[in-house]
Amino acid sequence: MNIIIPDKNIYDVTFIGAGPVALYGMYYSGLRRTKSKVIDMLGEVGGGLMALYPEKYIYDVGGFPKILAKDLVTGLKEQAVQYEHEICLEEKVLGVEKGSDGIIKLTTSKGEHLSKTVVVCAGMGAYIPKKIDIPNVKELEGAGVFYFVRRLKDFADKRILVVGGGDAAFDYSLMLEPVAKSITHIHRNDFFAAHEDTVEKVMNSSVEMKFPYWELKQIEGDDWVRNVTIVQSKTGETERFEVDAVIFNIGFLTNMGPIEAWGLQIDKNSIAVDSRMRTNIDGVFAAGDIVTYDGKLKLISTGFGEVAIAVNNAKSYIDPKAKVNPGHSSDKHVVTMKKIAREKKKAEMEDQKEV
Ligand SMILES: Cc1cc2nc3c(=O)[nH]c(=O)nc-3n(C[C@H](O)[C@H](O)[C@H](O)COP(=O)(O)OP(=O)(O)OC[C@H]3O[C@@H](n4cnc5c(N)ncnc54)[C@H](O)[C@@H]3O)c2cc1C
Repeated sequence: MNIIIPDKNIYDVTFIGAGPVALYGMYYSGLRRTKSKVIDMLGEVGGGLMALYPEKYIYDVGGFPKILAKDLVTGLKEQAVQYEHEICLEEKVLGVEKGSDGIIKLTTSKGEHLSKTVVVCAGMGAYIPKKIDIPNVKELEGAGVFYFVRRLKDFADKRILVVGGGDAAFDYSLMLEPVAKSITHIHRNDFFAAHEDTVEKVMNSSVEMKFPYWELKQIEGDDWVRNVTIVQSKTGETERFEVDAVIFNIGFLTNMGPIEAWGLQIDKNSIAVDSRMRTNIDGVFAAGDIVTYDGKLKLISTGFGEVAIAVNNAKSYIDPKAKVNPGHSSDKHVVTMKKIAREKKKAEMEDQKEV
């Protein structure tokens, strides 16, 4: 397919979502000289890294033995904005529809966008935490009951109860341990879903781990959380103690929202893609946490690889003469930067002529 339409409002690649995966995709899109746009419903770029854990260390991204999530986002932004992109924030994509001319129309909460290709990098959609149905939890949300840890200083010197056995719960215990007064971490199963290394680090820290079969039975408080009662469900043993904060992390509800109605093939609440990150709709690609294929891992590092594949394939979809393989960035970067400088100079000269 070779779409050549001289309309400057039609973009080559439009990313839905501006999480880490789309940000890296924007860099690739610049390198391949495709005109790109990103649309996110949040007020800032960075996706889950900024919305859920900006002050948490990430240990498993290549090249960084450890890096704060917000610093990784800063680096990704810096890498992406070497090239020009349009960034639309606080705008939710509601519909994606391909016209008979091959152009894809995106309908959003603010209007419409046109694009030759789309890369869906919508992560897990809206971040809706799973909740426990016991008295007072709802009433004390924001008053000692939390689902996310955005700023460490809000928890400095606090006595904290962390509830959950997955990566996010263990990550929160580990990141809060140096600043909290004390942390008790409970988990109701006899196995953990978190990385072995993170579990080991928490076990070897000052965090008091209550495992297995410990559940939260009761939360007491008036205008703020005061006490909790936990129970060992097999033995019936209970403990009641004072806390300043309860952090729940028992998973997220997968909510694809409007994406389900776009005609994409959905499998296990995710978009099914092939090895080129193509969906069942020609010109619509997907990458990152939103996709599924045999062997998929929902990690930042895998998302980076997937979006590089998606963008390079989008390039060759738009221009079949262009190779999918981008070559090495060291060669490409110099050529691309020289080309951008030439284009800029040409535009300046034309402006001067007009004056
Ligand atoms: C507490 C916690 C700790 C984690 N720690 C690690 C870790 O150490 N290492 C690691 O590799 N992974 C970690 N992860 C997982 C990691 O955060 C994800 O793999 C990563 O964020 C996926 O990036 P993404 O760009 O695909 O999606 P996201 O980061 O989820 O970004 C998706 C973006 O799409 C936007 N969006 C969704 N739908 C729409 C729509 N319809 N219109 C407009 N915008 C939309 C959202 O607002 C969001 O900004 C952790 C996750 C959690 C919850």
